[in-house]
Amino acid sequence: MSGLIGLTAAELSSKLRAREVSSVEATQAHLDRIAQVDGDVHAFLHVSDHALDVAADIDARRAAGEDLGELAGVPLAIKDVLVTTDMPSTSGSKILEGYLSPFDATVVARSRAAGLVPLGKTNMDEFAMGSSTEHSAYGPTHNPWDLDRIPGGSGGGSAAAVAAFEAPIALGSDTGGSIRQPAHVTGTVGVKPTYGAVSRYGAIALASSLDQVGPVSRTVLDSGLLHDVIAGHDALDSTSLRDAWPSMAAAAREGARGDVLRGLRVGVVTELNGEGFQAGVKSRFQEALAVLEANGAEIVEVFAPNFEYAVAAYYLILPAEASSNLAKFDSVRFGMRVTPEGGGTVEQVMSATREAGFGPEVKRRIILGTYALSAGYYDAYYGSAQKVRTLIQRDFAAAFDQVDVLVSPSAPTTAFKLGERIDDPLAMYLNDVTTIPANLAGVPGISVPIGLAPEDGLPVGIQFMAPAREDARLYRVGAALEALLESTWGHTLISQAPALGGR
Ligand code: GLN
Repeated sequence: MSGLIGLTAAELSSKLRAREVSSVEATQAHLDRIAQVDGDVHAFLHVSDHALDVAADIDARRAAGEDLGELAGVPLAIKDVLVTTDMPSTSGSKILEGYLSPFDATVVARSRAAGLVPLGKTNMDEFAMGSSTEHSAYGPTHNPWDLDRIPGGSGGGSAAAVAAFEAPIALGSDTGGSIRQPAHVTGTVGVKPTYGAVSRYGAIALASSLDQVGPVSRTVLDSGLLHDVIAGHDALDSTSLRDAWPSMAAAAREGARGDVLRGLRVGVVTELNGEGFQAGVKSRFQEALAVLEANGAEIVEVFAPNFEYAVAAYYLILPAEASSNLAKFDSVRFGMRVTPEGGGTVEQVMSATREAGFGPEVKRRIILGTYALSAGYYDAYYGSAQKVRTLIQRDFAAAFDQVDVLVSPSAPTTAFKLGERIDDPLAMYLNDVTTIPANLAGVPGISVPIGLAPEDGLPVGIQFMAPAREDARLYRVGAALEALLESTWGHTLISQAPALGGR
């Protein structure tokens, strides 16, 4: 990919600061790219009609000598789960069609304050429930590597936008893998920060004890730059950590430069690398481990016996929390209202609105969650799932006594075909086996591209996980592996993506 859209956010930032290009030019190039390819990719639900005005303002401030942040003037795509005052926020649902928020999500406000230029809102599974973006009420997003395949989910729009060079960086959210799994299937980088590191204020809640906002990009450094903009305490989120965070961009730069793998103890999680994993995913993963080892890392096998129950526990805890969070869509306070013919009671209007406004996956999870929380079944389902969650947290603690980072393939298979799993919820849920444990424990995770599976030529990612608060370690190690692989290949992985019909 050439021209302005081929640049990473870090490259664009240096050109902007050297005044070699203007933000208006960079923004226009990405808007042109969106106009050119998004009919096929459908990464965006809404494209901003004032991005160029925002860019012009940044250019003027730069010309006036204002000291702007590192990413000032760089275009940004925003997952539609994050509320914005100047663009609709639907969370991929019909029930919120056209909804305009009276406030910006904290991460959006911080991005604007840092001078990033919002390009638009990206497609997603409805209320972030899914692994393929096929549960969006507005139609699926297509994987830029193969338009007949899924871009991952729920944040398929943000990952596809970045992979198709429609945006250099994007914001996502990860409740059970929605940043890391789309990164895996699109050959991009995605980070789920430590729970509480990034504000959830204005992120339309799916499961509040699991949700975390994070960056999506084509390089580890770019995710680090965006992470530095959005992280940090927010009084508006009661679970926000008060930590002072080191610079993630600095950690990524250190990893790319140096000898950070020497002596690093890397634990391969046996339970996340076995049956049901595609051969080409496993072989690329083994090769990546060999690269880590050749550069001084110590590879050890780690057992996490309770990870086996993570998917089952998650698919009780998540629907339970979601059923409570989604109760606010009651036809009175937000969005759509459907009145039955001839009128109706408040209950009848609420019921008709939810019937028309929620899609089948959302209804399935509300019913499941309500059941799991009901008086007679609470202990058997929700209570047991919470106990399993504690056991998984203990598995992590025991593993991190032995190793510095844990690794697994980021997902069991490469991108599957659109339509392949949409009628089989269990098959869709099982796809999350690798990503869910980190959410249940609140620890950070990153997915970094490690090559193409030989059998289908589609991207594969490796996931690194670190103890809570050690996000910088992931950037250091992720950037080190990325630099080593790219020097072996002589190119970046994303440069091998098909040019979308020669464009
Ligand atoms: N695929 C998972 C789910 O369907 C992850 C969702 C997410 O991270 N938002 O719940």
